Amino acid sequence: MTQTHCPYCSLQCGMTLARSGRTLQVQPWPEFPVNEGALCRKGWTATGLRGHRERLTTPLVRDRATGELRAAGWDEALDLVAQRLIALREQHGPDAVGVFGGGGLTNEKAYSLGKLARVALGTSQIDYNGRWCMSSAASAGNRAFGVDRGLPFPLADIEQTDVVVLVGSNLAETMPPAARHLDRLRERGGTVVVVDPRRTPTAERADLFLQPVPGTDLALALGLLHLVDAIGAVDEEYVAARTNGFEQVRRSVAAWWPERVERVTGVATDELRALARLLAGSDGRRPRAMVLTARGAEQHSQGSDTVLAWINLALALGLPGRPFAGYGCLTGQGNGQGGREHGQKADQLPGYRMIDDPAARDHVAAVWGVPAASLPGPGRSAYEMLDALGTDGGPRALLVFASNIAVSAPNATHVADRLAALDLLVVADLVMSETAALADVVLPVTQWAEETGTMTNLEGRVILRERAVAPPEGVRDELEVIADLAARVGSPVPFSADPAEVFAELGRASAGGPADYAGIDYERIRAEHGVFWPCPAPLDGRSHPGTPRLFADTFPTPDGRARCHVVEHRGAAEQPCPEFPVHLTTGRVLAQYQSGAQTRRVRDLPDEGVFVELHPMLATRVGAYDGEPLTVTTRRGTLTAPARVVDWIRPDTVFVPFHWVGANRLTNDALDPASRMPEFKVCAASVAPLAAGRRRSPETVGAAR
Ligand code: SF4
Repeated sequence: MTQTHCPYCSLQCGMTLARSGRTLQVQPWPEFPVNEGALCRKGWTATGLRGHRERLTTPLVRDRATGELRAAGWDEALDLVAQRLIALREQHGPDAVGVFGGGGLTNEKAYSLGKLARVALGTSQIDYNGRWCMSSAASAGNRAFGVDRGLPFPLADIEQTDVVVLVGSNLAETMPPAARHLDRLRERGGTVVVVDPRRTPTAERADLFLQPVPGTDLALALGLLHLVDAIGAVDEEYVAARTNGFEQVRRSVAAWWPERVERVTGVATDELRALARLLAGSDGRRPRAMVLTARGAEQHSQGSDTVLAWINLALALGLPGRPFAGYGCLTGQGNGQGGREHGQKADQLPGYRMIDDPAARDHVAAVWGVPAASLPGPGRSAYEMLDALGTDGGPRALLVFASNIAVSAPNATHVADRLAALDLLVVADLVMSETAALADVVLPVTQWAEETGTMTNLEGRVILRERAVAPPEGVRDELEVIADLAARVGSPVPFSADPAEVFAELGRASAGGPADYAGIDYERIRAEHGVFWPCPAPLDGRSHPGTPRLFADTFPTPDGRARCHVVEHRGAAEQPCPEFPVHLTTGRVLAQYQSGAQTRRVRDLPDEGVFVELHPMLATRVGAYDGEPLTVTTRRGTLTAPARVVDWIRPDTVFVPFHWVGANRLTNDALDPASRMPEFKVCAASVAPLAAGRRRSPETVGAAR
C-alpha cells in the first residue's frame, strides 16, 4: 500500500495505491485533508495507463532515410541529442536551444529542467505550459500582494466564509471533490455566486448566477467596485491601513455605472446590484467573502488586468488577510503552483526569485557552484518562444518535457509549422502524444506511480508523490534523463537524479526567496500531510510551522501594504463582426485532463470527442441540428464537430472543449502584455452546418445534464 496523490489536477487528491497480484488499485486515503477520500472519475481510473499498449518503453529516433521513427537504445538516443545540441550551440550560440517544460512535472524535475537550461545548456530559452494556465493570476498576485500563491488560505476555508464568488471557474467539473466545500457552505447558510458565460454544473450550485459576454469580466469587476463604493461598503479603515493607490482606483471606476456595465457585459443591472448588496452585507454586518478566479477570467489578453480588478474589489472590501475571506486563484495543472516557482519560467530562478535580480543570481549561482555571470538573462515566454522556432535568432532545437504543445498551444496550426521548421525536436513523454509524433527523438519516461517527488497543490501545500511500482523496463525518470543529458553536453557541475537530493538542493536554492522551501523535507511532508510554503529553514533549532494563511498582518511588499492598480476594460482582442459574428470560448469536460494525452487513452474514461456547444436560438439562426456536423471558423482555422444544442450557454457564444485536436487551431494567440498569456477564452468565430441535415427543431433536442 502506498499513499500518494492523483496524477492530474491541482487539487492533488490523496489516494492509496494497493497492489493485488499484477494489478494496481486506487483506493481512498480518507485522512488526507484536501479530498478526505473523495476522488473524481479521473482519479479512480488513474492506473489506466499502467501496462497500456500505447505506453512507450524504448527511445525512438527518426530515421533520416525513411523519415519514420525507429527503436533505439538510450545511449544512442542521448548521444544523438547531445551531439546535435552541442553542434547547434557552437554554430548559432546557446539560445539556439529551447526547453519547454510542463506544470505536471514534480518540483524536483521543474527545478532540474531550469538548471539544465541555465547551467548545462547556457540558454535563456526556457518556459513552460503553465504560462498558458496561471500566468495572469501570477502576474496580478505579484503586483498586488508581492507574492504569487494561488490560494493564500487552505481550500477548506471556503466552508467558513459567508459569500464565495467564483469568476470563470467550473470546479464541479474540473475538480469535483472541491465542490463539497460549496455544498457545505450553503448548508451553513452561505451564498455561492458563479460568473460564467455557461451555466456549468458549478453554476447549477449557485444562489446567484451571472452570465457575462466572454471577455468582459474586467468590466463586471469595475462595475461592482463602483456600486460597492456608491453604497458605502468600502472598508475605509482597512484601505487606509493596508493598501496603496486606492483613491486613484476609486476615481477610475466612477464612470462604471450599472447601465454601462450591463451594456458591455450583458449582465442585468438587477443582478449586478444583487451581488454588490451581498458583498456589502446588511444591518451593519460586513460579511466574510472570497473572490476566486480561474481560467475563465484569466486566459485573456487582458487577463492580468482582469485579476487586478477583482483584487481591487477584494481590497476595497477589506478581505485579504481577514480570516475565511480574501482573494484567491484556483490553479489548474497538477503542479501548476510548484511548477512556476522553481525555475522553468523564462524570467525566474528557484524560490520564485527573478532572474534579473543580482542578489538572486548570486544566491542561486552559489548553490549551483557556477559564476553568477554565467547564468543567462530572461528568455522568451512560452508562445513567443514557439513563434520564434526555426527563425533567425530563434531556437533551432527544442526539448519538450511533460507538454503536448501540438494540441494545447493557441493558433496550433501555426505552432505545428514552427515545430516543423526546427533542426531538432526532442520529446520526453509516456505515450506517443501528438507532439511526440512530430519529434526527431522520443524519450520514454516514467508516469506518476513509478516515481517519487513533490508537488505543490493549489493551496501552496507541498505534498509528496510516492513511488508505488517500478517502471517498465526501458523507461527512465526525467531526473535521470536530465542528469544524463547535462553530463553529455558538458555541464560544468554534476546533476543528481535522486529526488530527495534534488529536493534538498532546491530547498537551499529557494532559501530566502518568496517561495522558501528550505524547512521542508520528505519526512516532514509524510508526517504532516503536506507543508505550506513559505517554510524557511529551522531557526535556533526550531522548525518553522509552514504558512497555511498569508497576509494576516502584512503583505510581502516593500512597505507591507497591498497595491491597488488602475485598470481599464479593453475588451477581447477580437470582437464579433459580420464575418465572424459569435464568440468562441474553450474549456474542459469532466472526464478529460488538459491535452488529453493521458485521459483519452484511459479505457474507463468516456472519450466523447470534440463537440461544439451552442444555444437553441443560435442553432435556429444558423440551421444547426443537435448531433449533426457543425463547422466553426475563425481567422486561424476551421473545425468540424458534432453540434450540441443546449440552453446553458449564451446565445451569442459557442463552446469547444480543448482536450482534442482542433479547438486550438481556432484560438487566438493575442497575448496579455504583462503575463504573456494567450487569449484562449475568447475570439470571434462563425458557425455553419457542414451540410443540410434532417430537419428537427433545435428547441426540442439537446444534451441532458
Ligand atoms: Fe482529484 Fe483532480 Fe485527480 Fe480528480 S483529477 S481525483 S479532482 S486531483
